[in-house]
Amino acid sequence: MAYSYDDQNIFAKILRGEIPNSTVLETEHTLAFRDIAPQAPEHVLVIPKGAYVNYDHFANEASDAEIIDYTRAIGKICKMLGVEPGEGGNGYRLLANAGNDAIQDVFHLHVHICAGRNLGPMLK
Ligand code: 5GP
Repeated sequence: MAYSYDDQNIFAKILRGEIPNSTVLETEHTLAFRDIAPQAPEHVLVIPKGAYVNYDHFANEASDAEIIDYTRAIGKICKMLGVEPGEGGNGYRLLANAGNDAIQDVFHLHVHICAGRNLGPMLK
C-alpha cells in the first residue's frame, strides 16, 4: 500500500522550524517536544524526522537506523523525565493514534509519552 503524507501537517512545520516547539530531545532521526495541550503533568510527543504518517508506515518503511534511533530516544526521554517504574519513577504510558478510529489529529507519526499522574484506563 502507498502511504500518503501531507507535508503541510503541523509537525512537518515544526520540523522545518516554521512553528516553535518546546524541545525535550533531538537526535539524528528524532525530535521530542512538549504537547501544547498536556493531558498529564508530563506529556511529550516523539516524532521521527522522516515523513511517516503513522506507526505502521514507519515500521514498514523506515530504515533500521531510524527505527533504532526513535526507539532509543523514547527510552532516553523516560529516563530524562524520571518516570521509569522500578528506577524510582512511577510509570508512564506510550500511545500512538493512527487513523479515524483512533481519532488521529496530526498525520505525522507521534508517540505520546504521558506520566506524572494516575492515567486511568485510556487517554481518548
Ligand atoms: P493525536 O490526536 O494526533 O494523537 O495527537 C495530536 C497531539 O498534538 C495533541 O495532543 C495536540 O495537543 C498536539 N498538538 C497539536 N498541535 C500542536 C502544536 O502546534 N504544538 C505542539 N507542541 N503540540 C501540538
